[in-house]
Amino acid sequence: MKEGRCLALIGESGAGKSITALSLLRIVPPPGKITGGEVILDNRDLLKLGKEEMRLVRGEELALVFQDSLSTFNPVRTVGGHICETINAHRRLPNGQAKEMALEKMADLGLPAGRVFRSFPFQLSGGMRQRAALAMALCLHPRILITDEATTSLDVTLQAQVLHYLKKHLEDCCMSILFITHDLAAAAAVADQVAVIYAGRIVEKGQLKKVFKQPLHPYTQALLRSHPSFCPGTLKPIQGSPPDLALLPEGCSFYPRCPEAAGICLSRVPEMLEVDSGRQVACHLVKSAILTKGEIAAS
Ligand code: SF4
Repeated sequence: MKEGRCLALIGESGAGKSITALSLLRIVPPPGKITGGEVILDNRDLLKLGKEEMRLVRGEELALVFQDSLSTFNPVRTVGGHICETINAHRRLPNGQAKEMALEKMADLGLPAGRVFRSFPFQLSGGMRQRAALAMALCLHPRILITDEATTSLDVTLQAQVLHYLKKHLEDCCMSILFITHDLAAAAAVADQVAVIYAGRIVEKGQLKKVFKQPLHPYTQALLRSHPSFCPGTLKPIQGSPPDLALLPEGCSFYPRCPEAAGICLSRVPEMLEVDSGRQVACHLVKSAILTKGEIAAS
């Protein structure tokens, strides 16, 4: 991820988007656990930090907003009380300043701030609660905001308002966003970079405009063909369903559903290949097309 930019992580349900977010914050629920890899932020591997250091990273450096905002808030506390408690757990602020910050962020997100502040979570609509959860995450000015389908449940007008606000926040506050979604139109509205995930692996990554205009990986192509905003009138659903992440097939995980699959796809996992500056794809077909092009150019 780049500072001050928004990276969309897109893919179907079950592709591994949410578990990626939970892993970054080290809050994977048991029996799940992180068995390898690194999470690098400013040359620090977050997986190696102690519990207290990691507690400070959560909220101040990395904040996560879930789709299910009901589970975000304590049901027996008012929304305002919960937000102030969260702010005070990280910052020592003079009396009343946490409340002021919370009210300001809520108003920025188009909420009737006073009423929402005094309400219990169950007294708010889903859209209001979702924006209150976003306000809480933004109160601590995190360096990276992770939104996991956080705008999916909002109606179209509210979604446009929140996306506009996030985009403005990116520019004004130099925050970065990891925007996790299966809504490609929402991703296109807010992100400048995109990573496509399938069966727990990134299969294509690059500048969003280029990837959406000319997708190279068969899965990205299929994903775009199945979305009404990108193929109006010619929608084509992706056949089959994503594999169980605990029982991945050998070779390329997409081959049972891939219209382009060849022999090699069944036995070898395709490695990520840089096809252009900042553009990466993991597919045997793309690799052999590039090699062939290279041979033609050389001859
Ligand atoms: Fe399809 Fe093979 Fe590419 Fe996988 S590696 S996406 S199966 S062509």
